[in-house]
Amino acid sequence: MQTQAYRQLDRDHHLHPFTDFKALAEEGSRIVTHAEGVYIHDSEGHRILDAMAGLWCVNLGYGREELVEAATAQLRELPYYNNFFKSTHPPAVKLAEALCRLAPAHMNRVFFTGSGSEANDTVLRMVRRFWALEGKPDKQWIIARENAYHGSTVAGLSLGGMAPMHGQGGPLVPKITHVRQPYWFGEGRPAGQDPGTFGRECAAALEAKILELGEENVAAFIAEPVQGAGGAIIPPESYWPAVKEVLARYDILLVMDEVICGFGRLGEWFGSMHYDLAPDLMPIAKGLSSGYLPIGGVLVGDRVAETLIERGGEFFHGFTYSGHPVCAAVALKNLELMQAEGVVERVRNDIGPYLAERWATLAEHPLVGEVRSLGLIGALELVDPDTGGRFDKSLGAGTLCRDICFELGLVMRSVGDTMIISPPLVISRAEIDELVSLARQALDDTERRLVARKQA
Ligand code: PMP
Repeated sequence: MQTQAYRQLDRDHHLHPFTDFKALAEEGSRIVTHAEGVYIHDSEGHRILDAMAGLWCVNLGYGREELVEAATAQLRELPYYNNFFKSTHPPAVKLAEALCRLAPAHMNRVFFTGSGSEANDTVLRMVRRFWALEGKPDKQWIIARENAYHGSTVAGLSLGGMAPMHGQGGPLVPKITHVRQPYWFGEGRPAGQDPGTFGRECAAALEAKILELGEENVAAFIAEPVQGAGGAIIPPESYWPAVKEVLARYDILLVMDEVICGFGRLGEWFGSMHYDLAPDLMPIAKGLSSGYLPIGGVLVGDRVAETLIERGGEFFHGFTYSGHPVCAAVALKNLELMQAEGVVERVRNDIGPYLAERWATLAEHPLVGEVRSLGLIGALELVDPDTGGRFDKSLGAGTLCRDICFELGLVMRSVGDTMIISPPLVISRAEIDELVSLARQALDDTERRLVARKQA
């Protein structure tokens, strides 16, 4: 079928996620047809370096036959059975064991879901159930962060802190509140504060919120180790140690959303390990199966698990596809390949530092106000060279830069005027060189076109 025919069917029948339906209908979709390694191909014959690993998920890259074989074999053996009613199957059990072996030592249980959003719905219910079973039913408030993304189900939406999302589909789940995010650049590099002081201030804001609500009413704090969708926000070094200190003073569960940071993105199996944190719950998804099939879950620490098991009775919660056998078989094979190929160690010791070195060279570009990266996640902050501050919003600098990247053969995402990357973990040095060179060209073209827009 030709591109135009696909576009027409898409326009007529398909409502896309996070999309202005009308605007897309006018513009038409890009039809992605196939992929290999770190490259996707579209129906018009373009080969594009996918520096976003799909949606932060294709950690092992495209075209891995071993994952195809794992899926095919499992489809033949047992394509579906559930984990309800005292049943299970080998892929779910084996995956549960493998995950708990890789997770921090105190995390020995997993509850499977079909996605990251479902994982966060599960978190919400587990956290409140835990405190009810502990005889503290008032501990219901969950503190999250402004500009956080935790999914698109109603619980995910409510835990997330994105104002435009909150503006649609409310009322939200009660007793969830948000505190300041540790985003030094995005918060305008507050005058008189270095990043270290700012990081400690953000931790102090968490403590102030706990005191305002009363410790006896607060159930949990939820955050990503590095905020992904918010703009690849790497907190100042001072932030997590200070938050750790705050949480140690109060009896509040720590939920680390590892949907993006899990499975090697920061050079450890989980982002919590990079920051030496011991969460009570860790929602996971995406990289768990390298995105080949949909699967997520919640890793549960011993404290919460023991209460749910010993005192809980039946937990009235679960999904048809909790621990789906084919998804679980693919996830298991994905973890085996990551281990056999030393993917996580390579991010930490080799390709992560290489990206950091190459990516940092973009700091010299007049359009770039800040460059940051950690492991294989990175961001560029676009600034107006005339002022050193943000561009006027009406210029749409980030979207322009993203569209130019596509034209040049690079998927780089924009969040406002922040350009972000999160490439497959198997990316080579030569491909990183190509990525950085395309990004530089895109910045040059963006600068030229912005000058024209400003003069218009
Ligand atoms: N948490 C985080 C941190 C995420 O980035 C995402 C997805 N981008 C989710 C949860 C939701 O996952 P899903 O889209 O699989 O529901």
